[in-house]
Amino acid sequence: HAKGEGRNTYRFFAPVMNQQVSERLMMENSLRHALRRQELELYFQPQYSFEQKRLVGCEALLRWNSPEGLVMPDRFIPLAEETGLIIPIGAWVLQESCRQARHWQTLYGSDLSIAVNVSAVQFRPELVADVQHGLESSGLAPEYLVLEVTESVLMTDVDASVRLLEELRGLGLRIALDDFGTGYASLAYLKRFSLDKLKIDRTFIMGIPDDNDDMAITSSIIDIARHLGLETVAEGVETEEHVNFLTSAGCNLAQGYFFDRPLPQSQFEQRLKDKGLL
Ligand code: C2E
Ligand code: MG
Ligand code: MG
Ligand code: MG
Repeated sequence: HAKGEGRNTYRFFAPVMNQQVSERLMMENSLRHALRRQELELYFQPQYSFEQKRLVGCEALLRWNSPEGLVMPDRFIPLAEETGLIIPIGAWVLQESCRQARHWQTLYGSDLSIAVNVSAVQFRPELVADVQHGLESSGLAPEYLVLEVTESVLMTDVDASVRLLEELRGLGLRIALDDFGTGYASLAYLKRFSLDKLKIDRTFIMGIPDDNDDMAITSSIIDIARHLGLETVAEGVETEEHVNFLTSAGCNLAQGYFFDRPLPQSQFEQRLKDKGLL
């Protein structure tokens, strides 16, 4: 190659490349030890029932208290997936979520359900054993556990997904389709996949009340879900307008900053106490 140009290119790009590569390597190395060093923490975001007008469950959302500071899941879940670390991390999330929900039940008599996110890499036959282990080691009844999967998770191998969903639901737990409306799944798959809940993606809720298309999409999803016997959960509920629209559209559950942000365990428990639920 042209010597001069090559050298300039090298000089210009190499430090940036090296920095990115070494940052990733450092993060990967650090993530390898995160579980053992107890740096992973679950936050809990309340879910409210429109009908019962009360807190009925929560979603477990993972946080990493890394030596460099708090890291959000969008930054480390992809890395955990690429390295396979999501398998032990995901098993820990399941076990810890079941343990926590069971703890609230035995200590305070709560009847909250807990929703756990499952990544594409985890969504394989071995997941059944991890779920069973979480349930058995905690004593949580399966009806209180919800697994959240996205359309893209299910679409990689539709036939295998249909079987795995049936096996998981056979354990007695429930399945929610997360970020609904943003993936590839066609409506026909709502019939094929064995599901319990649809989570309407935040991007549709964001358009309420100014965007007529978003409102039409949101109320249509709610109608379809009702006709199919599925519950609806609205994500990213941030304003009173959102709440009013969703109430009149017949949405079942809401989750979002209007009610609560994801909360660390102690703050979540305080919230339950304030609500008279603990
Ligand atoms: P998700 O499952 O769709 O979770 C909802 C995300 O929306 C959360 O972001 C939550 O904090 C955020 N959110 C909730 N209410 C509002 C709101 O009113 N406004 C806005 N702007 N955002 C809201 P978070 O905690 O950063 O998680 C991001 C994603 O990371 C999750 O999306 C999920 O896909 C993934 N994730 C989180 N925890 C886990 C986990 O334990 N395992 C796996 N595999 N993925 C996880
Ligand atoms: Mg989710
Ligand atoms: Mg979601
Ligand atoms: Mg989302």
